[in-house]
Amino acid sequence: MTHVQRLSTLLFKTLRDDPADAETAGHRLLVRAGYVRRTAAGVWTWLPLGKRVLDNVARVVREEMDAIGGQEVLLPALLPKEPYEVSGRWKEYGDLLFRLRDRKGADYLLGPTHEEVFALTVKDQCTSYKDLPVILYQVQNKYRDEARPRSGVLRGREFLMKDAYSFDVTDEGLAESYRLHRQAYVRIFERLGLDHRIVSAVSGAMGGSASEEFLAPAAAGEDTFADCPRCDYAANTEAVTVAVGPVADAAHGAPRELDTPATPTIESLAAHLDVPASAILKNVLVKVDGEIVAVGVPGDREVDLGRLAEHLAPAEVELVTADDFAGRPGLVRGYVGPQGLDVPYYADPRVAPGTAWITGANKPDTHVCDVVCGRDFTVDRYLDVVVVEPGDPCPRCGAGLEIGRAIEIGHIFQLGRKYADAFGLDVLGPEGRPVRVTMGSYGIGVSRAVAALAEQTHDEHGLCWPREVAPADVHVVAAGKTGQIELALDVAALLADAGVRVLVDDRAGVSAGVKFADAELIGVPTLLIVGRGAAEGRVELKDRRSGAREELTVEEAVARLT
Ligand code: ATP
Ligand code: MG
Ligand code: MG
Ligand code: MG
Repeated sequence: MTHVQRLSTLLFKTLRDDPADAETAGHRLLVRAGYVRRTAAGVWTWLPLGKRVLDNVARVVREEMDAIGGQEVLLPALLPKEPYEVSGRWKEYGDLLFRLRDRKGADYLLGPTHEEVFALTVKDQCTSYKDLPVILYQVQNKYRDEARPRSGVLRGREFLMKDAYSFDVTDEGLAESYRLHRQAYVRIFERLGLDHRIVSAVSGAMGGSASEEFLAPAAAGEDTFADCPRCDYAANTEAVTVAVGPVADAAHGAPRELDTPATPTIESLAAHLDVPASAILKNVLVKVDGEIVAVGVPGDREVDLGRLAEHLAPAEVELVTADDFAGRPGLVRGYVGPQGLDVPYYADPRVAPGTAWITGANKPDTHVCDVVCGRDFTVDRYLDVVVVEPGDPCPRCGAGLEIGRAIEIGHIFQLGRKYADAFGLDVLGPEGRPVRVTMGSYGIGVSRAVAALAEQTHDEHGLCWPREVAPADVHVVAAGKTGQIELALDVAALLADAGVRVLVDDRAGVSAGVKFADAELIGVPTLLIVGRGAAEGRVELKDRRSGAREELTVEEAVARLT
């Protein structure tokens, strides 16, 4: 038996008008339907309806994580600085990190992600190879001082993430843990009803599995991806932003250290290129000699563009603005260093012989610092710059590619031994000698999944939840008269007794029209309307998504829904 939620007592208020700051349909509807309220920029309150949806998403995630043997823990969000100094991320994270100080002057941070403290937890708890493999996860708020929090809970500065970490002694073990997570993620997103694609987070050409992203196609998304309509090929066009100029031989001359002034800004870049700052709005392509060499969103990646601009003669650089970008999205493929994805910054000595300039490849949130090829890293291999345009042939099956927008809803990584090395995470191996542990990390944006669902499933009348995440299974609407409210409450009780999750609109003094509009806005999958036929014990069932209606007796309706 479940609890009947009466709208007459529910803390919720629908808004007729769109909130002024709403950027996307999903954002607008979640606010209008009374699911979330803004508390500060990128900081959100979850009202009862929203909390139900958020909990449903988290429940599905937990069930599938438990099914692959994950053990749930809860680490603190308030963390000491030291582990993040050991890993280098106290600095690397730059302005993204929320830092704070306690009364004794000790430095703390609010966790943006928890690799460090999970590594330490396992170091503390596991001593033998027999204790591994282990998968730990938590569902917890994360804190990132995003440059541009936007679209409501889609990009928050406080947001709910499921983060999981695997610990293995062998590379094969890590590959298996990664495979388990990948499968669990597919099941999770299928159960949530989220349309999704899996893309390599590095480059479609590499086909590697060291890191993959789960993307939910939606116009509101901030990622651009190439999608094959015929086979399952998909590639993130924004995963890597590496500029490669007129290609000089990699062996040509020793790279020298850059001597660049302060981080370029949109203004300084615009001044350098002699274009108005307003021309640099959103997605920007930079072309050199007609070839696209950098793709970026100023703000996230202004540094890349700025560096490029500073190290090439202005005449060589052509700036393409947002409008041009819309018609010509580019896939720029880069290279990986010997440490794989963990190399935070890449420099390319080929831009001009003897120079290295730096991009924040795959780390749009971090600030770029000077690194020098040969001193700080060496280059493993190069991939060519490839521009993918709509209609280009799919590398797998040849069909014309489509280019679309998507929301990153999940991200899985084979981290390897980076954190184990940093923290000396060893266990005793079968031969009695210490063995270094290898790690994976796996994230799902739980609060972002709610936003992504709202973006993908709404229609012109309102939200339209898949049943698994909906705040209720059935929304009973008493169309007005007192007798109808009583019958509605009776039907709701019958349904609840049978385990159906019910909302009942028993508000007195609210017109039937308003109740219907609110029901469509709230988006529960099935509406049960107690209206004119109530006197004869007849009610109407309406499918929220298809709009199909059917008149039934109360008994028939209850039988149908239980
Ligand atoms: P993005 O590229 O959107 O900034 P990210 O790559 O920085 O995301 P990860 O570090 O991979 O994010 O975190 C794992 C998951 O957490 C992401 O796939 C996403 O679903 C979610 N997430 C990340 N940042 C936010 C945010 N600011 N608000 C809500 N969810 C987020
Ligand atoms: Mg980010
Ligand atoms: Mg990302
Ligand atoms: Mg990511």
